[in-house]
This record gives sequence, structure tokens and C-alpha cells, in this order.
Amino acid sequence: MIVAIDGPSGTGKSSTSKAVAAKLGLSYLDTGAQYRAITWWMLTNGIDVDDAAAVADAAGKPVIVSGTDPSHPTITVDGVDASGPIRTQEVTAKVSAVSAVPEVRARITGLQRSIAAAAPHGIVVEGRDIGTTVLPDADLKIFLTASPEARAARRAGELKGADVSATRDALIKRDTADSTRKTSPLAKAEDAVEVDTTELTLQQVVECVVTLVEE
Ligand code: C5P
Repeated sequence: MIVAIDGPSGTGKSSTSKAVAAKLGLSYLDTGAQYRAITWWMLTNGIDVDDAAAVADAAGKPVIVSGTDPSHPTITVDGVDASGPIRTQEVTAKVSAVSAVPEVRARITGLQRSIAAAAPHGIVVEGRDIGTTVLPDADLKIFLTASPEARAARRAGELKGADVSATRDALIKRDTADSTRKTSPLAKAEDAVEVDTTELTLQQVVECVVTLVEE
């Protein structure tokens, strides 16, 4: 069972994907964490992340390992736990530029496909291009949406006290970059089920996805 959950930031992809995977005994992969990890490695190794050629040259260097237990997802880069550093504002501001570089996408997409193929009971994979590009044969594809206001309020809540309107602007900027890049942009697959989470609780979204898996 392979479930692809795509959508823009702040729609509840991570919380939904982890809960669905835990409920169904599946593995879980946060592909955004992988793009964040490669971005963090570039920033800490002095690569100019606005120079696409430099990013492309370095794309194969870091060793990125994702732990796929939905109750304790992990990510390491060259053996170092990167789960904290990949969530900094600096990484968030630069991740769209790094993930737009085709060599980065090819590298990370390869990792994602091998992790999905190795999952013993199946996997829930969340991201932006999972249903369209990474796993086009997924058994179920979900595309989560929500109003920009709801998405910004959720993200600001996670960032504990962050300004909602500044968070909204940053989020829209990142989604625009992710949706307009040339390689595998953020998009709904034709056969994905769209779920608008604006007025739904997390529990309702999880129930909706679990029902679709079991149908
Ligand atoms: O999901 P998260 O917000 O952590 O993703 C961080 C960034 O990683 C996205 O804004 C996007 O630039 C990139 N990403 C991507 N393709 C994916 C997942 C994430 O390009 N499948």
C-alpha cells in the first residue's frame, strides 16, 4: 500500500501522514525533510545556494538517511542528527531554491523511490510531487489544500508566537516558487483526491484518508 500525500505548506500534510501511517501500520516518509537536509548541508558547507551550478555540483555529496517510523521519524546528514537544524528560518528561506535544481531533485527522488520500495508493509509519503512524479503508481493519492489564512495560522502556531501575516507572506512566497519551478512543480495529480482541510480538524482529515485507503 503506497499512499502519496501532496499539497502546499500548512495544509496538515505531516500531521495527517504520520497519523495515517501509525493507524495503518505503514512506514512514513517526510520528503520535505530530505530537501531541507540537503539545503542545510549546502549552507553549512559554504555552498552558495543561489548558484544553481554550485548546488548541482554538490548535490551528490551529503549522505542523507531517513528513519521511517511514523511515531519517531528521523533524519541524519553524514551521520549527524539534522532534525532540529533543518527547521530553522534560514533553511526554510533557501529550501525552494535548492529543491528547484534538477540534480538535487534527481538525487532525492532516487532516495525516495528506494525507501518506498523497501518499506515492508507499505508507506505514506508526503511532499509536493509524490503523486505526479516520484510515485505515479501510488495506490492512493491525496492532495491537501486549505485557505492561505488557515495555513498561515497553523504554521505561526507551530512556530510559537510568530507573526501570522509575516508567516503568510513567507508561505505564499515559498508555495509560488515551488509551484512555478520547471522540474516537478507542486501540483495535484489528475487522479488525486483533493481534501480541503480549512474547516476540518486533524482527526477528521485522518479519518477521511483512512476511509479512502480502506475503500
Ligand atoms: O514540507 P516542507 O515544508 O518541509 O518542505 C520544504 C520544501 O521542500 C518545500 O517548500 C519545497 O521547496 C521542497 N519540497 C519539494 N518536493 C517535495 C517536498 C518538499 O520540492 N516532494
